[in-house]
Amino acid sequence: MARYTESVCRLCRREGEKLFLKGERCYTNKCSVGRRAYAPGQHGQQRKKMSEYGMQLREKQKAKRFYGILERQFRKYFDMAVKRKGVTGENLLQILESRLDNIVYRLGLATSRPEARQLVRHGHFTLNGKKVNIPSILVSPGDVIAVRDKFRNSDKLKSILDIAGGKVVPEWLEFDSENLTGKVVRLPAREDIDLPIREHLIVELYSK
Ligand code: SF4
Repeated sequence: MARYTESVCRLCRREGEKLFLKGERCYTNKCSVGRRAYAPGQHGQQRKKMSEYGMQLREKQKAKRFYGILERQFRKYFDMAVKRKGVTGENLLQILESRLDNIVYRLGLATSRPEARQLVRHGHFTLNGKKVNIPSILVSPGDVIAVRDKFRNSDKLKSILDIAGGKVVPEWLEFDSENLTGKVVRLPAREDIDLPIREHLIVELYSK
């Protein structure tokens, strides 16, 4: 599978926003967005007026990068969003939020979405009692996510909980910190999703 292998901080600088891809570092003054607030590359500091297409493209790239998704998969999610009832842009964000790796991150069981994806791949969680290792699984209301026994007492999880354990879990999820389990109460509405994404621009881009 294709994979982005360069510094992920470049992605944040390109979008001009924190995408929170590096866990703890993102909350410190080592974050590159604050230190070098311009796009990466030779022409990064040039001022450019962005076209309408440019803005739509950047918004799509930003959404993909927040969730760590490549173009083909993102397009598939868009097609799914079109088929669902309701507003396409909101449906798209709801689908992205429903990914298992995002749920693990939202529950505070990983310090970033890339880390959540890796932990899921390594089989550290169960979904409704069964071991899972596919980060792109879409969860449904009523689904229960739990930390597997082997990972429960690991130093890795302890350090994650030290950093992310106190984080506010969104209202559409429930987290039991004693048992390290989470439940999907309902799918998120637009107002539940705190990311600065203008989804209508993505819809406009794909509707051309
Ligand atoms: Fe982005 Fe985090 Fe790197 Fe800052 S530290 S540029 S938020 S990945």
